[in-house]
Amino acid sequence: MSSRIRTTLALITSTLVTTPLLAHPGHGTTDPQSVTHYVGEPVHALPLVLIVVAVAALSLLSFRQRKFAKQTH
Ligand SMILES: [Zn+2]
Repeated sequence: MSSRIRTTLALITSTLVTTPLLAHPGHGTTDPQSVTHYVGEPVHALPLVLIVVAVAALSLLSFRQRKFAKQTH
């Protein structure tokens, strides 16, 4: 695994770990204890969307690197 992928995975992991710290009263219109709060409120949903996009991009990059490595060896 390349160092760029490892660095990006570390950033994603740190984002996942710190996202629950945003759970505080005083924002949004949904129950802060419900799953819909984390899916429906932009302050929580946006990081999740970014994580999904980053994981998809890394998966595609990793797939392409493995495909390229097979072609060159
Ligand atoms: Zn919240």
